[in-house]
Amino acid sequence: MADQQIHNIAQDSYNVPQDSYHVPQQQQQQKYHTSIVEHPISKLPQVSSKTKGKYTLNDFHILRTLGTGSFGRVHLVRSVHNGRFYAMKTLKKSLVVRMKQVEHTNDERRMLKIVEHPFITRMWGTFQDVKYIYMIMDYIEAGELFSLLRKSNKFPNPVAKFYAAEVCLALEYLHDHNIIYRDLKPENLLLDKNGHIKITDFGFAKEVPDVTYTLCGTPDYIAPEVVATKPYNKSVDWWSFGILVFEMLAGYTPFCDPSPMKTYENILAGNVRYPNYFHEDALDLLQSLITADLSKRLGNLQGGTQDVKNHPWFSEVIWERLYNRDIETPYEPPIQSGVGDTSLFDKYPEDEQDYGNMEGEDPYAKYFQEF
Ligand code: AMP
Repeated sequence: MADQQIHNIAQDSYNVPQDSYHVPQQQQQQKYHTSIVEHPISKLPQVSSKTKGKYTLNDFHILRTLGTGSFGRVHLVRSVHNGRFYAMKTLKKSLVVRMKQVEHTNDERRMLKIVEHPFITRMWGTFQDVKYIYMIMDYIEAGELFSLLRKSNKFPNPVAKFYAAEVCLALEYLHDHNIIYRDLKPENLLLDKNGHIKITDFGFAKEVPDVTYTLCGTPDYIAPEVVATKPYNKSVDWWSFGILVFEMLAGYTPFCDPSPMKTYENILAGNVRYPNYFHEDALDLLQSLITADLSKRLGNLQGGTQDVKNHPWFSEVIWERLYNRDIETPYEPPIQSGVGDTSLFDKYPEDEQDYGNMEGEDPYAKYFQEF
């Protein structure tokens, strides 16, 4: 890919303040990894699902902000009917349209509607008003794996292995359903009240039976075939899976640089310096995942996910018990379950939101008919 193109993509990063992405040194702890996307250059046929969520905003009390995304906030809400807590993701229609994310937003809803897996966040319904679209999801109480990783600096080998194994099962499920996730990173992995993984944010997930071309993801985690704008498929998730395991073991990602453009160059150059404290099995696994050669990348070979599960690093994992959440988690989150405890989430200023406006003109209605 030409340098100019890379530069444009970096500049397209949604006006994220420079310091929210850049890190001064490779070995220093990174701040949030910021997602980027270019609008798709290929359009695949869309699967249409017309089910309407049956909720409205009046069904919930909004309690506090849990996190912010590119197009809106995620709030803790409580059902006025059953008293249960949920996470309500809001997206401002005008922003979604301006950022050319209509297709991804509809894909997100469609994917979340289909998926049902112990390590994937469940969505219960969607609705909209004139300005916003809303998604009601399970509230995942223990916050982001990202926060735990930054607090711990890095995870011991067995801890990284536990989280990686749960993510591996979720990826297997998604890929079996021809869904590529495309934004694996610790910020998108939440921990439930028992310390199990729940993948969230399906903003880039897509049902892709063959190949796609869209440049999206998060710079540190993007596979070289995506940077090089080649057609790609599930292989990209296995690359990101390798970067995730690396980051959990090392506390930083292998190609990171203060400049996203340099990050892309590092990814294309493909030189990884593995710390000498990595377990030899972990090293072997990572070398087979973080490889640009698609004919060698584990997960992308004849045996698919099974090759990853059979790798010696995972030799002691009993996959069926893991799937059944019958294995003790390495970290018991210190939360009071069932009472909407948010102590593991960062605090956000609670600005007044203009939600719930059902009157007036909605110039974007035609884009979000499924919500
Ligand atoms: P997202 O825009 O989906 O990436 O969400 C932004 C942030 O909101 C996440 O990084 C989490 O901190 C928080 N969040 C998203 N979904 C949930 C959920 N289901 N339960 C609890 N927190 C969530």
